[in-house]
Amino acid sequence: MERAAIPPISSVAVCGGTHGNELTGVYIVREMQKQKLEKVGSVSITPVLTNPKALDVGRRYTEMDLNRCFTDALLSSPITESTPYELRRAQELNAQLGPKGSAEAVDLLIDLHNTTANMGLCLIFYSIDWITLHIYKYLQNKMSSIPVRAIQVAVPASDAYSLESVGKHGFAIEVGPQPNGVLRADIFNMVKEAVELTLAWLQEFNSGHTFEGSTVEAYTLVKSVDYPRDPAGKITAAIHQDLQDNDFKLLRSGDPIFLTFSGETLKYEGEDLYPFFVNECAYYEKKIAFHLAQKKTYTFPSISVKKD
Ligand SMILES: [Zn+2]
Repeated sequence: MERAAIPPISSVAVCGGTHGNELTGVYIVREMQKQKLEKVGSVSITPVLTNPKALDVGRRYTEMDLNRCFTDALLSSPITESTPYELRRAQELNAQLGPKGSAEAVDLLIDLHNTTANMGLCLIFYSIDWITLHIYKYLQNKMSSIPVRAIQVAVPASDAYSLESVGKHGFAIEVGPQPNGVLRADIFNMVKEAVELTLAWLQEFNSGHTFEGSTVEAYTLVKSVDYPRDPAGKITAAIHQDLQDNDFKLLRSGDPIFLTFSGETLKYEGEDLYPFFVNECAYYEKKIAFHLAQKKTYTFPSISVKKD
């Protein structure tokens, strides 16, 4: 592959509290705001608490999941009296940090999330973006004591529904397991380190360092699996103990996935795939017990900053 020249990354938004009960990002952003951290070397930093109302009440959201509001259609929908708070907020954030897809958008948007699933540290992104893949590789190399993985959500930019899609480049950092409304020091330190390493990578990149091309593995969603339910829609089983906490461990046909409340083990049938977001608290309402992914290898070129 040829070497790619990419414009400097001069502005970064570090966002937390998009889900108001995922506290790691909230406290990392608050610390950055307290320290009035506005610039690190060549990069201007904007720390943003994105869903203050949900934070105040300690919930994921108040009326609508904010992290599903950033599609082109929703961002351009007219505001009326009945528009949910989070959709108004999404349009405000798009005006502040975007507009999505425009030359004015922040160069890099990092949105900090937690999951109740045992996923370690995961980058989640939409497009195959050389900056994101290089940062991902860098984090994997520097944070070798913990699993650093990535999930690619293959939808077009116009349908990308999460906040990170507003930046020119962007990714979410999803870290768990951490219960909603709880802070864990180990998780906090992981996320803090990942943010600091990302800022360090940007300094090197902006100063003209060439990062060599390489390959990385990332997971792509194949399908979602719901809980077994009765005719009234109530779940009739829990995640089986053999699957619980085993995110990213290959699931094969015949492996247990649910334990019904009457004690029956339900087994997986289908192609071998990797489970993730296993027993994520927020996904009960979305009718998702876990997602299943394929693992793919991505090759990316050497990159360096484009000079005028
Ligand atoms: Zn979240």
